[in-house]
Amino acid sequence: MGQVVVISTGGTIASRWQGSGYAADARGGDVLATAAVPEGVTVRVVDLMSVNSARITTAHQLTLLRTVREVLADPAVDGIVVTHGTDTLEESAFFLDLHHDDPRPVVFTGAQRPLEAPDGDGPRNLHDALLTAATVRDLGVLIVFDGQVHAARGTVKVQTLAADAFADPSGKPVADVADGAVRVHRRPGRPAPLAVPAAGGPLPRIDVVMHHCDADPTLFEAAVAAGAQGIVLVATGAGNATPEICAAVEAAVARGVLVAVTTRVSTGPVAEIYTHGGAVDLVAAGAVLTGTLRAGQSRIAVLSAALAATDAAGRADALHRTLAVTAVAAAA
Ligand code: ASP
Repeated sequence: MGQVVVISTGGTIASRWQGSGYAADARGGDVLATAAVPEGVTVRVVDLMSVNSARITTAHQLTLLRTVREVLADPAVDGIVVTHGTDTLEESAFFLDLHHDDPRPVVFTGAQRPLEAPDGDGPRNLHDALLTAATVRDLGVLIVFDGQVHAARGTVKVQTLAADAFADPSGKPVADVADGAVRVHRRPGRPAPLAVPAAGGPLPRIDVVMHHCDADPTLFEAAVAAGAQGIVLVATGAGNATPEICAAVEAAVARGVLVAVTTRVSTGPVAEIYTHGGAVDLVAAGAVLTGTLRAGQSRIAVLSAALAATDAAGRADALHRTLAVTAVAAAA
């Protein structure tokens, strides 16, 4: 059926007991050995790293992006599987999706149960990811978990422990995997891919600040003072905060900081409905609403925009381009 390259990065699927708790330490070959390889698929493993994904950085994600590019430079490769910790999987997957310009898929998977668990979910997830990577085309970067295939964009971790760990709360899966076959239900909308960032430049600081009762602009302003080039405001409801926070947003935008607004609510888009500190005023202050993207992926959109251009106007343009599909979906 095809040749698939597994890029191993760690996570619970590669985790063993360390005496006090679990941590990633296995190599990709050990992880692959747990799974049935679909008939006709040949697999090569690239051991990139073995870390718990809460420790993943922009530098790791750029290394992963460049490794994917190198692997796909070989026309004999049909697809890629990335094994990754579930905690930040949605962030790395979306980062790669925003830069992915190849019909061949990059399929992220992982596990909620550790490598050697007798009832582990890793073997099935990895089998399904291999099958998906070997068979689908033109779907961008995907997340395969618990029999479902999700588009990277919009998908979040929705369960801390249960096996059905991922979903797009505002959308539907792209496909499912059952009885040795991948059934595609829809094609996800994706914007034109961003160029791969040049190597070696300084990496932007992008912070996330959450609004809540009693919140004042102190933490938002601390992010600006720390040198943030972008800030994601996790607002209440459909994207609301206070007049004081709107003033802080306006001051930050005037200094060239990209400000994006998402919500603490799990489902649905942010929208310009309320004033007196609401999304109407945040947008007037220069913030950009992120549609149905949640905090982690909103931050990745801002990060990617900051890496795409050096000037404020270019960055704002790149952010709008990365969000265009989400905005359309939210309005539909
Ligand atoms: N702690 C793990 C991680 O690396 C969780 C997981 O993989 O499920 O994200």
